[in-house]
Amino acid sequence: MDRRDFLKMSLSLSAMAFLDDPNHWSVSRATAADSPVSPASPPYTNDALEPYISARTLEFHYGKHHQAYIDNTQKLIVGTEYAGLSLKEIIQKSSKNPEHAAIFNNAAQSFNHEFLWKSMKSGGGGEPKGRIGQAIEKSYGSHAQFQKEFSHAAMTQFGSGWAWLVQDGAVLKVIKTANADTPMTQGLTPILTLDVWEHAYYLDYQNRRADYVRAYLDHLINWSFAESNLTG
Ligand code: MN
Repeated sequence: MDRRDFLKMSLSLSAMAFLDDPNHWSVSRATAADSPVSPASPPYTNDALEPYISARTLEFHYGKHHQAYIDNTQKLIVGTEYAGLSLKEIIQKSSKNPEHAAIFNNAAQSFNHEFLWKSMKSGGGGEPKGRIGQAIEKSYGSHAQFQKEFSHAAMTQFGSGWAWLVQDGAVLKVIKTANADTPMTQGLTPILTLDVWEHAYYLDYQNRRADYVRAYLDHLINWSFAESNLTG
């Protein structure tokens, strides 16, 4: 067996290990890891956010929706000026060119979803402590006021989009974006996000977006990820 055959065998063995574990992320994700537009795998398995977000939802949301955005981005940039750029560079560049809306939409959705997975964790939510807790206090006066404003943004985004906590200079702000739009093109630093496209919650909550938002605030927010995104 030469080196190439050995590598092939090792790769197929690790692919089989992935396939044997029904909770694990799709094998196509692992093979896409070399691409600049491929995100790191989420830091948990499909069932990690239950009962607030079901394994079934993550199976589709991560394995199908997010994966499709990544696959489409990869296909669309082949042979273009975007090939070889980082995901963030692709987003910034395509956001300035309306003719490249398909590239922007798929690249921005790839980023937004990667950011979403990191914004949540098992046993998250509740009141923030430490530096992020102080930043929330400084910008909102109280955690309750932050929850109120975030919930309002998530509930009033008409149709598909995202609710965000962002940093704008020295202050934190809650904003909402439509469809694939992402704060980085507005010069804002994303701190946390919640996907309010129906595909994010319909299997678990149907039309009850408010219950989904409540579950995120009370049980899912990854405050240590939020804190790691603070600048200055
Ligand atoms: Mn989504």
